Amino acid sequence: MWSVFSLFLGEFMKVLEEKIVKEGKVYPGKVLKVGSFLNHQIDVPFLTLLGQEFYDRYKDEKITKILTVETSGIAVAYPVAELFKVPLLFGKKNKSNNLSNDCYSSQVTSYTHGRVYDVVIEKQFLTSDDTVLLIDDFLANGCALEGLIDLCRQAGAKVVGAGIVIEKAFQDGGKNLRAKGIRVESLARIADMDPEKGITFID
Ligand code: 5GP
Repeated sequence: MWSVFSLFLGEFMKVLEEKIVKEGKVYPGKVLKVGSFLNHQIDVPFLTLLGQEFYDRYKDEKITKILTVETSGIAVAYPVAELFKVPLLFGKKNKSNNLSNDCYSSQVTSYTHGRVYDVVIEKQFLTSDDTVLLIDDFLANGCALEGLIDLCRQAGAKVVGAGIVIEKAFQDGGKNLRAKGIRVESLARIADMDPEKGITFID
């Protein structure tokens, strides 16, 4: 059971890893479901602690906006935006190509659904005055984050980094983004996972 005391001991990452092992289920195709606290049912106090952790890591940056993508990213981004006292903006997943001129849009390949969608935001909500922290639940191949970074590029906004709850480090997204100079902070980094053998983490 996690507690504030364990946070003081700097063991919060271990608490998250234990929760992933205990409550997570690994599916074929290297998909991890953590519906009990992150992707379906939301453990609000726990996500509030995750938000505090992201805040602590990026608090020296002059962040003006938290940017994520619907749906699961929103719950993670909410407490972060609350702590920074800035708006939470989320990219909408749009199947149609029928976009208005008032939107920025970028194509993303969905890891879990295997389809291509446009991630869309209205221009009025992201501008060159913004300094953005990206937040998402998972990082796999990096397509979702690349899409959000592309939206920021179109808007002329500055990206200070990306806060991720679970990075599947056996996939290349994190490596590629870090190689591009993006500061990626992942709270749990999975080295490998398998329905039979379970989950191992990078310390
Ligand atoms: P990427 O774009 O980095 O390949 O994948 C990240 C996105 O796909 C995240 O926004 C997340 O919603 C979803 N995703 C990727 N891998 C997983 C996974 O193993 N489990 C769940 N629940 N979502 C995942």
